Amino acid sequence: MTRVVRTRAELRDALRDVPRPIGLVPTMGWLHDGHRALMQRARTSDATAVVTIFVNPRQFDVAADFMQYPRNEERDLSICEAEGMDIVFAPDASEVYPPGFDTVVTVGAMARPLEGAARPGHFDGVATVVAILFELVGADHAYFGQKDAQQVMVIRRMALDLAIGTEIIACPTVREPDGLALSSRNVHLSPDERTAASVLHRALVTARSRWEGGERSGDALRATMRDELGREPLASIDYVSVADAETLAELDRVDGPALLSVAVRFGTTRLIDNEALPG
Ligand code: AMP
Repeated sequence: MTRVVRTRAELRDALRDVPRPIGLVPTMGWLHDGHRALMQRARTSDATAVVTIFVNPRQFDVAADFMQYPRNEERDLSICEAEGMDIVFAPDASEVYPPGFDTVVTVGAMARPLEGAARPGHFDGVATVVAILFELVGADHAYFGQKDAQQVMVIRRMALDLAIGTEIIACPTVREPDGLALSSRNVHLSPDERTAASVLHRALVTARSRWEGGERSGDALRATMRDELGREPLASIDYVSVADAETLAELDRVDGPALLSVAVRFGTTRLIDNEALPG
């Protein structure tokens, strides 16, 4: 049986005397097979598996995006149950952020480019809520999706810098058969936009195969992604990036491990995806 708890006190109570290690899967709900893959990793590796479901207002730079974020707690809880999770923490904002809350975790250079530049304040919101959740759960392991590659890097940096003992484990991106990365936001796509959205992965794979063919120019690889995305009339490019896998600085030449990433809008829906180049 999955135990659903809503307050800090109930969570503390539920965690009393549970076997270790404790694995944590932080989510914003509207759970899909990408989240399930994280839960399965936790279930296999940890004696106690905890999922958090919290649409974190602090990581949305646009209020409308927060309001429109899809929610279906009943369905989410049945998925957690089916995946054999021990505890679900589904708090209200007032439980996560106590009255008078006035502390923010800010990660530096790693959080500035890409999503950080496109969504001001986003990673402050992410780092802050994740630090709180790590502390509340006392997790030994926490599972994150490689789909949000920069998020994984920001959280690793934060955990290292703040001496948080939780080990961060990145899990591969789960995709639809046409390559589209699963995302809670996909539900907002119209049928035509949904078909068009496979272009993100196509652009990344095309650039990756040019890199495999020996192309090392950052500009050429960025142009490859722009060209591929440009072929899809419903896609509006937010950014394309070929960045150093350690620092996320844009690269002139790809001489080591790198990260290809794209952010693309279809109407009001903004999707991201990435592909690692091992170097
Ligand atoms: P979210 O609910 O969108 O905040 O995502 C919660 C966690 O699930 C994050 O660590 C995401 O990176 C991860 N995630 C989201 N989509 C996928 C996916 N398609 N494959 C693997 N992990 C994912």
